Amino acid sequence: VTSAAPEGAVGEAPREATHLRVERPPAGLYLHVPFCVSHCPYCDFVVVAGREARGPGNRIAAFAAALEQELALRADLLDERWGRPSGPERQPLDTVYLGGGTPSLLPAVAVARLLDVVRERFGLSPDAEVTLEANPGPDERGDLAAARAAGVTRLSIGAQRMDAVQLRALGRRHSPNDVAATALAARDAGIESVSLDLLYDVPGDSIASWQRTLDEALALEPDHLSLYALTLDDPDAEGITGAEGDHLPVSGGARRWRERARRGQDDDRAAEMYRLADARLAAAGFSWYEISNWARPGHASRHNLGYWSGLAWEAAGPGAHAFDGRTRRWNAARLDRYLAALSPVDGPPRLPPGSRETFAGDDPRARAVEGAILALRTRAGLASSAGGRDGMGDALAWGVSQGLLEPNGPDRLVLTLSGRLLSNELFVRLL
Ligand code: SF4
Repeated sequence: VTSAAPEGAVGEAPREATHLRVERPPAGLYLHVPFCVSHCPYCDFVVVAGREARGPGNRIAAFAAALEQELALRADLLDERWGRPSGPERQPLDTVYLGGGTPSLLPAVAVARLLDVVRERFGLSPDAEVTLEANPGPDERGDLAAARAAGVTRLSIGAQRMDAVQLRALGRRHSPNDVAATALAARDAGIESVSLDLLYDVPGDSIASWQRTLDEALALEPDHLSLYALTLDDPDAEGITGAEGDHLPVSGGARRWRERARRGQDDDRAAEMYRLADARLAAAGFSWYEISNWARPGHASRHNLGYWSGLAWEAAGPGAHAFDGRTRRWNAARLDRYLAALSPVDGPPRLPPGSRETFAGDDPRARAVEGAILALRTRAGLASSAGGRDGMGDALAWGVSQGLLEPNGPDRLVLTLSGRLLSNELFVRLL
């Protein structure tokens, strides 16, 4: 992330994660669907593209069967630990999030089948938020009416920019018209909440171009916007692409693309784009509720708020991360190994490879800092008293003195606009 870009949830935002230390049953479920028609050169998500995703040899059906199998195995473990859903210790799930990759490439019948398994084995509250990520291309967005009928309530559309030239430069297949058609199709399908993802600080960017993208995106009347500065990390250098890693190696072509793209980024311009967007969205009736997220009233993502407020969530699919209130667990990223474990040629299915860690070795102060950082990402902010209680007082006072934090009511501290842009400066001091 560029240093000027925000590093990073009105009313619906959470309080800080005081319960990070306690194991608990999941409130949400993340399902990772790794297929994309093509692989964007900047993308670090766990993605398989090309022949694996389309054509006669595609592995989508095999994957959907394996994912269903993993859900069954995960549900067995939850049953053993917490009893059946709706028992005294376990509530039905409040949110499900199908992310990717391009989950809208799943046939609607597969989405319906997976959500049936979720209802049966995990429980799903009657007003659950069920998000589907979709790419806007006509051959990628899927059957949104069928998705709605299956239970999808929220569509997150990977728009990125509303400019055909920039979309091509980013390696995207869709056009701005495809974004508009997908938003319209979601409304026609009766999907209650429509979100657009947009990218800024892209190669060759300009303030005027970003302003046009914002205006054209707002003209589509979305309920929610996620704005991300283009990040050009190197998962190989971070050592997370090994056999148990939750990322896949970066191709030589993508690495060269990123090196060129980095030269076209500008911290100051990125900061200006963030400020411009925050003002433009506020004028259009959106409130920021997390550093990178804005929503109309009632449309903040409950699933993502759960992450920032320290709720527990279950996860399935290659590279997916789960958290039980105390321990993070993840599946390894490689699809072959995932399918081999869950759909073996002989023997019963077994859980896919992966790993786990208990955050900071169960150190209470480290957990308090983690909770504070998550809370400070959100508009609800952090209880001022947390500073004295957990030894973060000097860092919080520094944040106030530098104009990065301000009071929000009698006992809360919240990031200012500058604080949202420079949150890492504060967060490293909290650590
Ligand atoms: S469409 Fe999205 S998930 Fe797929 S490769 Fe591009 S950025 Fe990654």
